[in-house]
Amino acid sequence: MYELIIIGAGPCGIAAAIEAERRGVSYLMLEHGSLAMSLTKYPIYMTFASSPENLELGGHPFPTGGEKPTRLEAIRYFRRVAEVEQVKVHQYEKVTGVEKGAHFTVKTQKRDGTTGAYETANIALAIGYFDHPNMLGIPGEENPERCTHFYTEPSPYYGMNVAVIGGKNSAVEAALQLYRAGVKVSLVYRRAELPASVKPWVRPDIENRIKTGAIAAYFSTNIRSINPTTITLEQDGRTFELENDFVFALTGYSPDQSVLRGLGVEIDAATGKPRHDEATMETNVPGLFLVGVIAAGYDANKIFIENGRFHGKAVVDTILARR
Ligand code: NAP
Repeated sequence: MYELIIIGAGPCGIAAAIEAERRGVSYLMLEHGSLAMSLTKYPIYMTFASSPENLELGGHPFPTGGEKPTRLEAIRYFRRVAEVEQVKVHQYEKVTGVEKGAHFTVKTQKRDGTTGAYETANIALAIGYFDHPNMLGIPGEENPERCTHFYTEPSPYYGMNVAVIGGKNSAVEAALQLYRAGVKVSLVYRRAELPASVKPWVRPDIENRIKTGAIAAYFSTNIRSINPTTITLEQDGRTFELENDFVFALTGYSPDQSVLRGLGVEIDAATGKPRHDEATMETNVPGLFLVGVIAAGYDANKIFIENGRFHGKAVVDTILARR
């Protein structure tokens, strides 16, 4: 019987594990992939928008080569912190269900096909949102040879016709990187202009590439289907086709709320926000806590590593106060 099971070993989950480890709360962290796995799906050459001190876990300094950490520096840092803190994590063990009686039972599936079951008084759900892309729901989207929701690097697409769907930072940055790697890029965005949230140092770059025609931009345009060698777009009620080899649908991500719903957490229909006390991070289901961006609902632009890394402390404070 554990005092705490942390589901998800991203940066915010690791921060929660450090709190539990240091303060003597018996815990286990379960991760369906590897430690900080979501970062490995980020663009390979990505630099974080946060300063390194705002990503630090457990007070461990995070020295970086430049002003902002690169993806690789962050992966190494989170891994090293977890190692030094000796956080207890089972990697490649997927949570398949959670039941609640007098306490929680967390059921899992391991890599070798065997199953696990853990009893715990409390759960911290730290599953992030990067595993669940917002689907377009169009024909062809499910074909991995034609479409992906994760952009990592441009080189494999040299000389190809590539469409980037979306207009926020992921889409804009991918479009620019692809263009600079000799890719023929079309940016397809459903609104009339790029949103205010595009980073100020990126905006002039994308605007100028669009102005000169280096990147073909289709505003107020939706993609309707991904065909064998083309895509079908719709603009002002008119449909037309573009030659296309590959689609990056960078349409954002949404949290998987199935565990929350299954346990009876109330979720606001409009915002998708699970009901919880922001001081303790406890949901309306006693003993079930939220850690990281899962607390944000549909608007993933509110909770980042910067603020989510402190949720674990609130959880452990609450558990210790109830002992
Ligand atoms: P996002 O902010 O959720 O943007 C998704 C984009 O896809 C939006 O432009 C949205 O349109 C569009 N979209 C969503 N559903 C659609 C649909 N069904 N059809 C057509 N278009 C659709 O996702 P993101 O850009 O991947 O950013 C996710 C997070 O990562 C954010 O927190 C962001 O700040 C962060 N990020 C950080 C960095 C960095 O640190 N270097 C880089 C990139 C992203 P609307 O604009 O109309 O909503």
